[in-house]
Amino acid sequence: MSVNGRAPGPGPGPGPGPGPGPRDERQAAFCPVECGRCGAGVVAAKFSPQHTSVQWSAEAVRACVEFSAARALGRPSALVEGCGSLRDSIDAAVMAGRLEVSPPLEVSPPLEVTPP
Ligand SMILES: [Zn+2]
Repeated sequence: MSVNGRAPGPGPGPGPGPGPGPRDERQAAFCPVECGRCGAGVVAAKFSPQHTSVQWSAEAVRACVEFSAARALGRPSALVEGCGSLRDSIDAAVMAGRLEVSPPLEVSPPLEVTPP
């Protein structure tokens, strides 16, 4: 009589939903990406498979080992292409569907709002 009347688990719990709803599509799909190597957090947008826009914050530049190495060599960070590992991380984010490839709108006139 050692039957344990325990019922099996209730099955899989609530998985991740279908993701956040559609955001404001007038803006490029910038998405936070973290470098898998140095942990530098940047904001990236993928306009095409070849065109990636990365916004480096001062903090991220400081955190990135490749920028630091370039700076140690006396190269201005503007000439540094960035972190190779970060590119891999961005590619991985695209593959995982966390970062969308979204071409920028061709027609994007500067919105000049005149104050009343
Ligand atoms: Zn890095």
